[in-house]
Amino acid sequence: MTTIDFGPDRIKVAPPAVEAFEALAAVLRAHDYDIRPADTDSYNCRAIKGGTGRSLHSYGIAVDVNWQTNPYKETPTRPAVKFSNKSTQAERGEEVRRGLADTDMTPEMIRDVANIRTRNGKPVFTWGGSWNNIKDSMHFELRCSPDDLRSGIDWNSVRGERAQVAERQPDSDFRRPESFDLRRLESFFRRPEGGGFGSMDRDR
Ligand SMILES: [Zn+2]
Repeated sequence: MTTIDFGPDRIKVAPPAVEAFEALAAVLRAHDYDIRPADTDSYNCRAIKGGTGRSLHSYGIAVDVNWQTNPYKETPTRPAVKFSNKSTQAERGEEVRRGLADTDMTPEMIRDVANIRTRNGKPVFTWGGSWNNIKDSMHFELRCSPDDLRSGIDWNSVRGERAQVAERQPDSDFRRPESFDLRRLESFFRRPEGGGFGSMDRDR
């Protein structure tokens, strides 16, 4: 795992995923979305919610952001995610607490996250708020393969500035595939055909 800045937080991510999470942080920052370190985390040992087995968080390829105002819920009737139309994050969070919205994030920010691409053109993140049977709006996870990540992030697809992201040297951890178990990670990237942002279902 590699520890990186994620807004005001520090999170642990899989080495090939460092640039992807930097792009995610850049989009959240571009939308003035405040990340609260107290209820944000990536790599941890919490059991997966609503099921058994290890979460993708165990592999450093998912992050939960502000879970107090982006709660996990089961939604067997498969409703669309409910966004708040309030203008501030605090007001949207209040609507979540009152049960009027599923998330304090905005559709515009989620759209920009969905637009992040690798240099070989693959979408990078899935948002848990887009799932059908559950809403996990705190949750962003990688949906592209390690090979796609190795092509790099297309920063033209990333809304916002690439601020404070240092260029890495070729001999850094990011370039060293032996520093992580690629094949194991790869098996966790597999997605059903047709699955994807906005339509992805998760049966569990
Ligand atoms: Zn999660």
